[in-house]
Amino acid sequence: MKVLANDGISQSGIQALDEAGFEVIVTKVAQEQLANFLVEENVDVLLVRSATQVRKELIDSCPNLKIIGRGGVGMDNIDVEYARNKGLFVINTPASSSGSVAELVFAHLFSGVRYLHDANRNMPLSGDTKFKDLKKNYAGGTELKGKTLGLIGMGRIAQEVARIGLGIGMKVIGCNRKDPGHTDIKLEFYNGKSILIPVETKSIEEIIQQSDFISLHVPAQNKPLIGKDEIKKMKDGVGIINTSRGGVIDEVALIEALESGKVSFAGLDVFENEPTPAVKVLMDQRISLSPHIGAATTEAQERIGTELAEQIINLLKDK
Ligand code: NAD
Repeated sequence: MKVLANDGISQSGIQALDEAGFEVIVTKVAQEQLANFLVEENVDVLLVRSATQVRKELIDSCPNLKIIGRGGVGMDNIDVEYARNKGLFVINTPASSSGSVAELVFAHLFSGVRYLHDANRNMPLSGDTKFKDLKKNYAGGTELKGKTLGLIGMGRIAQEVARIGLGIGMKVIGCNRKDPGHTDIKLEFYNGKSILIPVETKSIEEIIQQSDFISLHVPAQNKPLIGKDEIKKMKDGVGIINTSRGGVIDEVALIEALESGKVSFAGLDVFENEPTPAVKVLMDQRISLSPHIGAATTEAQERIGTELAEQIINLLKDK
């Protein structure tokens, strides 16, 4: 059986599939040539990340296709229900990258409170001529310890973020679509010991009003969850991180709030207009930027590859 990993797959994934007798093709086929390639090569399994689109027309034109696999979480690039209704398996690896995204949240948070994102822009330009000025500019940072971190969404990634936040002494609160209550977070240490810490879940309004830092962990939304009105209710000087999906936060409202000082900094891994984010967002010195790399660690990619391979082998072993 043939597997096309059109957006790449880890070596461990290739090896597992190879050992189970699958032929893995890792050539990147252009979107407009994909249907032809899948038919001509008689491909059984199409693996994608976020780049390749798997829409109805493609599904219709490839009757041999049995599995569509998404390495990672969001499946907005796949017509999932349509494919399932036609009898295809659609699989993903929802938990494999949560820890990597959570660490990126903290990369942005640590950067934001000590102005590293801006220092890294200006040190190469004038670090040798204006060292003392820069030192003054970037003094007055704050610590995360003891501050309140509000999580919007309380799923897999948010819970990993909560683990790190609790670990460095932050108060963590969260919200999801359910009634207020709490979520037990298991903190696991290197020596095998662990403890359970309850994290309070509240309404989104309470999270917005009570947090020193807000991190978004919800799926793509039809309209922004955080816009002008929500930002108005936040604490002055709040820091906001979005590693979930572009459009969950209204970028125009965010820029205005950064300009007025209401929001002190933002960290963005995802953008409304990917892959061509607004220049105003890219040029704002109060934003710590990364190009949608939340899941892009060696460890996450290894886990994604092996998890996909295991699922494919299980689904097709008897066919
Ligand atoms: P999940 O499904 O485990 O959790 C989503 C949470 O959001 C749930 O708790 C749900 O109740 C909550 N929720 C949904 N709509 C809500 C709303 N309107 N208000 C409040 N809560 C709401 O998902 P996850 O695995 O934690 O992923 C979260 C997000 O991260 C997704 O958008 C995913 O696409 C994104 N993601 C980004 C990267 C990256 O590279 N930056 C990588 C992986 C995932």
